[in-house]
Amino acid sequence: LFLGISIENGRVKDEGNFQLKTALRKIIEKFALPMRLTANHNIILYEIDPTHQQALNQILEQHGIQVTPEGIEPLVRYSMACPALPTCGLAVTESERALPGMVERIRLLLDKLGLEKEYFVIRMTGCPNGCARPYIAELGFVGSAPKAYQVWLGASPDQTRLSRPYVQKMPESELESFFEPIFVQFREERKPEESFGDFCDRIGFDALREFSANYELGSGIVNPNGKPAAKKSSTAKNRRRISIPEEVHARLKQAAADQGKTMTQLAAEALEAYLL
Ligand code: SF4
Repeated sequence: LFLGISIENGRVKDEGNFQLKTALRKIIEKFALPMRLTANHNIILYEIDPTHQQALNQILEQHGIQVTPEGIEPLVRYSMACPALPTCGLAVTESERALPGMVERIRLLLDKLGLEKEYFVIRMTGCPNGCARPYIAELGFVGSAPKAYQVWLGASPDQTRLSRPYVQKMPESELESFFEPIFVQFREERKPEESFGDFCDRIGFDALREFSANYELGSGIVNPNGKPAAKKSSTAKNRRRISIPEEVHARLKQAAADQGKTMTQLAAEALEAYLL
């Protein structure tokens, strides 16, 4: 027999009721099992004698280790972070210590939006070296400044397609307001069974940015009766069109892509600053 143990961010430790380090030591001392470390920083114990199965499960349970997949939050199970601060000298921001809290906030947001059963691959690193391979996660966070991350979207759930950078700097404090419109659009426009990464790749970043620019925060929250809250008046109908030369349009498009904004957003900001 074999047994896979999911280890959050690959950290083998004893902390409170979670005594993974002690449990593994006891198992190895008692059963002398070989083990493998997986590319997703989990552990597989193998060559388990079936007569030892019950005793082994008992040790794990007594030390607070969850071994049934159903008992593990899937967003956590498929997430991965590099160590970053304080042990990596190249880190520009937190990763291993920040990801659990951010995954929890993403779970809460998904629940509020009626996406309770949804999960996808999330990975985070503290700098662009990408040691936790965020560039093949459906949602990748790459540290770009203190408490700010590049956001990468669009990889496939089985990591056979790369993601692409969606914004250069998302402040960690703006996680909910940043992702609410994206998740609402995912809920509204996905194909049946389409994963989050496949959806972002299919619909494209321009469509995601356009939706986010016109979205009113809070309007997609699901009511207790399961229906989306009534939409308030859209700001889109209050917009006016203007014409600009082709060359300016091309530069505006490039600048908007570089800054992770829609052209409408960037043009409005530029005009507002100019007209002050
Ligand atoms: S991705 Fe950067 S911060 Fe994270 S471990 Fe690698 S070098 Fe360090």
